[in-house]
Amino acid sequence: METVIVIGGGASGMLAALTAAETRGRRVILLERQQRVGRKLLATGNGRCNLTNTGACPERYHGENPGFAVPALAAFPPQAALDFFRGLGLMTVEEYGGRVYPLSDSAGSVVDVLRFALEAQGVQVKTACPARELRREKTGFSVVTDGETLHADKLIVACGGAAGAKLGGVSDGYGLLGALGHRRTSLYPALVQLLTAPEYPRALKGVRADCALRLFSGDALLAESAGELQFTETGVSGPAAFDLSRAAATGGRGLTLSADFFRGRGKNEILSLLRARRKRLPSLPASDMLTGMLHNRLGKMLVRYAGLPANAPLAELDDGALETLADACRDFRLPLTGTAGFDSAQVTAGGIRTSGFNPETLESWFVPGLFACGELLDIDGDCGGFNLQWAWASGRLAGRLGT
Ligand SMILES: Cc1cc2nc3c(=O)[nH]c(=O)nc-3n(C[C@H](O)[C@H](O)[C@H](O)COP(=O)(O)OP(=O)(O)OC[C@H]3O[C@@H](n4cnc5c(N)ncnc54)[C@H](O)[C@@H]3O)c2cc1C
Repeated sequence: METVIVIGGGASGMLAALTAAETRGRRVILLERQQRVGRKLLATGNGRCNLTNTGACPERYHGENPGFAVPALAAFPPQAALDFFRGLGLMTVEEYGGRVYPLSDSAGSVVDVLRFALEAQGVQVKTACPARELRREKTGFSVVTDGETLHADKLIVACGGAAGAKLGGVSDGYGLLGALGHRRTSLYPALVQLLTAPEYPRALKGVRADCALRLFSGDALLAESAGELQFTETGVSGPAAFDLSRAAATGGRGLTLSADFFRGRGKNEILSLLRARRKRLPSLPASDMLTGMLHNRLGKMLVRYAGLPANAPLAELDDGALETLADACRDFRLPLTGTAGFDSAQVTAGGIRTSGFNPETLESWFVPGLFACGELLDIDGDCGGFNLQWAWASGRLAGRLGT
């Protein structure tokens, strides 16, 4: 009987094992180094698991060769993933921006239906069982674990990346595949908090704002994003910041962030709002100029950032002062000092070089019978369910074992 071993019981490994087990007469073993499968999945989407995005398309993916992801994503697009999960008994709901969550609002539901399916399909799950070494044999492979050495005719490596270290993100997969001749790119933490000069973020800790963000290296625009921004003790977080984190991690030194808190509105529109307020409330202190338009603390901070006298009545502000404030609202600049590390990153940018694998099957070009999937490969997606979609799609393709 053919034996298939899947290494890594995360999102992609579970999909690969379930897919491999669809063929009768095959023994499928899933090895997981942690005490349970799907531990990282439980923490995704703030415990809600944003399991896919209905807008997933190749442009949302990155790596040395993002085109590598196309066949897997085309063969198992978001709708196919949702049909698959519906078949396992998971009900889902689509929210803003195409983000899909379980109807239960609990990531545990996703892990549970996958666990039930693994059991129902006879996949042998071995937890607390790290693969330590992989060896090529005359036929197939040996997988060395702490307690035993297992034989596999075919091998799927799905060990994930280095991100989310507190949830079990490890570098094992790079070493295991490295020993079989596969090389990796440089690795960077992505979908992670941006660290900035602390003065303004610290004062705004906890404030959330909708904005358009731009990342500059000197005068050159490196990347743009839009959506929710959250201020933290040491910088900025939230989807809009996450979407720039890959460019920030790889963009070198001397980067600056620019936030527009009135996105979609021109300077003249903001100026007329400010003039109208000055006319209607001439004795209001300048510090309250933006109250009612933005979060109170953010509004007061922007008045300070623009250098306006906080206690002066609005009547005393001339048109030049209003223009300076309008500019501050649309181009609030924060010098970047870096990004947070792998511990708090959601995904690894970089990974095992995709040039070593056939994109149509995810089989190694030079080790027949060896497959890889998920975050371990040099493919990462934007914030919003794109990374799990890649994990499902690539796990599904690898689990077909080239058939
Ligand atoms: C906090 C957080 C929130 C996130 N939220 C979202 C979200 O809402 N939506 C989204 O799309 N993405 C999200 N992501 C990203 C997403 O979780 C990952 O991209 C995805 O889980 C990758 O799947 P994977 O199977 O490649 O790796 P993983 O899910 O990390 O699974 C790899 C598994 O392999 C195991 N393993 C490693 N080495 C060995 C070994 N030697 N032997 C045996 N087992 C081993 C690990 O323990 C792990 O269980 C989030 C990530 C984090 C950290």
